[in-house]
Amino acid sequence: MDMLSTAMNIFGGYYETNRGWRHYRVPNKTYDIRFHPLTLEWECSCPAYKFKRGNKICKHIKQIQENRWKKYIKTMEYK
Ligand SMILES: [Zn+2]
Repeated sequence: MDMLSTAMNIFGGYYETNRGWRHYRVPNKTYDIRFHPLTLEWECSCPAYKFKRGNKICKHIKQIQENRWKKYIKTMEYK
């Protein structure tokens, strides 16, 4: 297990940078989902998010917003 995964396990599925962004990572994917608690901005680097520019949401953001993130990444780990 690398350091990032260890930190994510400790902090409940995300890690926070010193600029205040919370970064979420999907196991076995390179997507970077981030959320800023002060400005309430969401961003994701997955193709679905980039494609739907107007929507500002993708399935990853949705999982986090609906409090299903931990369950979601657990299911991704074993694929
Ligand atoms: Zn996404």
